[in-house]
Amino acid sequence: MLNIVLFGPPGAGKGTQSEKLIEQYQLKHLSTGDIFRANIKGETELGTLAKSYIDKGALVPDEVTINMLKAELEKNPNAKGFIFDGFPRTTPQAEALDELLASLDTSISVMLALEVAEEELKARLLERAKTSGRTDDADPAIIQNRIDTYNSQTAPVKNFYADQQKLQEINGLGSIDEITDRLFSAIDTLD
Ligand code: ADP
Repeated sequence: MLNIVLFGPPGAGKGTQSEKLIEQYQLKHLSTGDIFRANIKGETELGTLAKSYIDKGALVPDEVTINMLKAELEKNPNAKGFIFDGFPRTTPQAEALDELLASLDTSISVMLALEVAEEELKARLLERAKTSGRTDDADPAIIQNRIDTYNSQTAPVKNFYADQQKLQEINGLGSIDEITDRLFSAIDTLD
């Protein structure tokens, strides 16, 4: 199986690049942000809970997020591989993911970490707010919280995969196609 963690700060381009990767490698896309937003839209209990965190730019608690991800994995027993987008966002989530995949006799193949400078991220998120309808994109104070949360809780997850020799950092600046090419070549040269 090819199991990819597509990693990066808010606004790094994970959603856009995920579309390219799933098409090229026939992977099942699991985006925790998308799943939370679908639950918010459907007014489920999980959605109400998630919204209270997302609207502040904070992370949804690990236990909730991990259980949700586990259920999504179980819904896809025949997948050729997964692209994890927006997960894991904390070291406990990364540990839980390793255990879940081990129970399926598989593991993470690589973490592809998109690198984008903070000023560029803020500009991209404010631009996206014009069309995404995402309330967490529209307010500079919430954007700042998301970036601060990324720096304090999420960026350390890179070390988890670096220790397993699975981290590959990818320059996230350039055209969409240029970045896609960088991701494809990183995947195509995996050993
Ligand atoms: P971003 O554009 O910030 O990367 P996402 O769509 O991935 O956005 O996630 C939106 C929000 O959903 C996050 O700011 C966070 O509140 C919540 N969220 C998404 N994934 C996770 C996760 N793995 N753990 C905790 N919270 C999460």
